[in-house]
Amino acid sequence: MSRREELAAGLRAVEARIDAACAGAGRRRADITLVVVTKTHPASDVEILADLGVRHVGENRHPEAGRKAEEVAADLTWHFLGAVQTNKAGAVTRYADVVHSVDRPKLVASLSRGAVAAGRELGALVQVDLGPAHGQESDGRSGALPAEVERLAALVADAEGLRLDGVMTVAPLGVPALGVFDDLREIAEAVRRDHPGATTISAGMSADLEQAVAAGATHLRVGRSILGERPALG
Ligand SMILES: *Cc1c(COP(=O)(O)O)cnc(C)c1O
Repeated sequence: MSRREELAAGLRAVEARIDAACAGAGRRRADITLVVVTKTHPASDVEILADLGVRHVGENRHPEAGRKAEEVAADLTWHFLGAVQTNKAGAVTRYADVVHSVDRPKLVASLSRGAVAAGRELGALVQVDLGPAHGQESDGRSGALPAEVERLAALVADAEGLRLDGVMTVAPLGVPALGVFDDLREIAEAVRRDHPGATTISAGMSADLEQAVAAGATHLRVGRSILGERPALG
């Protein structure tokens, strides 16, 4: 099978899963955005995916993400999913369209400065760490705690160059994802009361996209089920 055939088959399989999950949840496919997570895979894969109709891609590491965004000619929306070091924020704002991992006030300030300097508007999601709410230790790298979300959201909404798009989470290992994603939806609803434009709920990966659709996610971030397993580093 050519790489193109492999990726097309992966996409078809994931689209079938999303369709089934939408049918089960009484939701419309059109209300869900599939972000194909291409981290660790070459720019040539991104080109093929773009040719197959993919419009949203996700990356989690700088500078790998920046190199790919430069190499790929197709007009895509680039989602940055990983931890952003404050001193790399300016560079990330030059190619990312949406950052899913805003987790602290200092990062809001750095991204805002970077976006203004680049003359760009950057979409921003507050990443929420729901591990502690589900009996897990916080690793301090998985997002803001639920109690901190509204303050961070207000900071983003007031920051020049940033647009508050909504919230994001990664379901912690060993916790049923549906309960985590239900919590995220409640947090999203609370944020939306003050910020009606913050409609994005980014949840669900290869292992748990069905639960994310059931819990109202608007954005799914799927890598392995489309591109195959990543090399060990990814
Ligand atoms: C890698 C990654 C994904 C995709 O995970 P898969 O298991 O490959 O579908 C989604 N979200 C984030 C934040 C990631 O880092």
